[in-house]
Amino acid sequence: MDYKKLSELLFPHIDNTVDFYEEKFPKRDVEDNAAITRLGPSPTGFIHLGNLYGAFVDERLAHQSNGVMILRIEDTDDKRKVDGAEEIIINSLKYFDINFDEGVSLDGEKGSYGPYHQSNRKEIYETFAKELVKMGRAYPSFTTEEELDEIRKKQIENNLTTGYYGEFAVDRDLSFEEIEEKLNNNTPWTLRLKSMGNPEETIEVFDGIRGSVTTHPNNMDIVILKQNNIPTYHFAHVVDDHLMRITHVVRGEEWLSTLPIHLELFKAFNWEHPIYCHTAHMMKMDNGNKRKLSKRKDPELSLEYYQKLGYFKEALLEYLMTILNSDFEEWRMKNKEKSIYEFNFELSKMSGSGALFDMNKLDDVSKDVLVNMDIDDVVDFFMNWAKNFEKEKYEVLKDYKDDIKRLFSIGRSGKKPRKDLIYASQMFDFISYYFDEFFDEYEDLPENVSKEMAIVLLKEYSETFSIEDDNGQWFDKIREISEKHNFAVKMKDYKKNPQDYNGSVADVSTVIRLAITGSINSPDIYEIGQIMGLEKTNKRIERYINYLDK
Ligand code: GLU
Repeated sequence: MDYKKLSELLFPHIDNTVDFYEEKFPKRDVEDNAAITRLGPSPTGFIHLGNLYGAFVDERLAHQSNGVMILRIEDTDDKRKVDGAEEIIINSLKYFDINFDEGVSLDGEKGSYGPYHQSNRKEIYETFAKELVKMGRAYPSFTTEEELDEIRKKQIENNLTTGYYGEFAVDRDLSFEEIEEKLNNNTPWTLRLKSMGNPEETIEVFDGIRGSVTTHPNNMDIVILKQNNIPTYHFAHVVDDHLMRITHVVRGEEWLSTLPIHLELFKAFNWEHPIYCHTAHMMKMDNGNKRKLSKRKDPELSLEYYQKLGYFKEALLEYLMTILNSDFEEWRMKNKEKSIYEFNFELSKMSGSGALFDMNKLDDVSKDVLVNMDIDDVVDFFMNWAKNFEKEKYEVLKDYKDDIKRLFSIGRSGKKPRKDLIYASQMFDFISYYFDEFFDEYEDLPENVSKEMAIVLLKEYSETFSIEDDNGQWFDKIREISEKHNFAVKMKDYKKNPQDYNGSVADVSTVIRLAITGSINSPDIYEIGQIMGLEKTNKRIERYINYLDK
């Protein structure tokens, strides 16, 4: 067969050559070890934790080595395309400080290795497909879907591997004349790889995360161009990763099974393949069983979830890093003040098996991260979150920035700081009692305190409350009220002889706490009183008395 003639017959409109593109996209002028990475999301409008996990690896590899991180939009599948998806991808990742150096951006494409939308690279794919035909490594296939189904059925009946290969690759040996005739009749065709692999053999590949991986060569004549000359993922990513001079391909482990196809394509062109790094699936515990996070069942898979709830990027990245690199937590203990970007991230420290994502652990990490953050940054983030996601609440909150800062600061200093703050919407719930607009419910009084008694205690508290009191003076007054109404001032006494008392000083404090915050648990009420001031405190007491009096 004259393959050159066949390539002209199939791609008469393609004039560019492989060499043209090789020259157009030369080897990058970067340091020897610089990693060139890319994220290749499809614009489906759904960006998830797995994407962030992979993107964080791409980002660390590139930026830790003075390399380049690229955003390439893999939009060859029209059916999956969703308007606005690119903005969602870019903004969601930006929220987590993942910024691209090259490729698709909100103001157009940046960089000289583009286009960065696969839909604009059709001619490039066709040029390289034409080259494969010329080399005798690709051929047109006219097998219809129905015929493929037949083949599959036969294979299943005979317990054979399914697919288009060997004797089943019926169009492999069509003559030039047969092909020409079909083309003249406008018979639709796809372009298939002519595989040379022998699956009986084994090959070893180095995976950046998994180390040495043993697999078998590909022997499937897979489709590389679909009927409208649109490339499949297999073909497109190989051509793109080569021309964009990618050094590390970080992608999900679902691609591990088709890796032999990709290796064969690289080999066919005589190109060096990048280091493939297959990340583990994100898993969660569900009723004692580990399972993959699912789009349908687990809202926490979506990145939007974290933005809406107002998780701090610092917290999520910190937690992701604990999953990514096993020795990160140890490093963090020794380097409390350092930025996460000072940690030396290494692919080899990643695990190839299921990455367990635990929301409780995330919250714990978040508490630690927030307690060490500058309080002004915490407040700014919180206000911004409210402005973006809770407009009505923001209208109230915006006039109380100083109070909010003081409320968040209660108990934050000292040896054993309180770790009340986790994420913005939880932080809102935590301080919502402070705002009359949001304060509505009271928890129950302690069992041993009657409504009547509570009212007496509250009236006395309000009569004696002074904003000038220091913590000691304030507590002395509570003690006095307690003593007067036979509430034990010392817990010890109360515990010894509870029958002798109406309760303890803790009950008196609880009554006051309920009046001020509606809850039996809150940070220091002395501090809260200081922030609220005399008038608001007294109004709260009055309101609670009225409530109890009803
Ligand atoms: N477009 C592919 C996906 O959405 C990208 C895989 C890769 O990074 O190579 O999964």
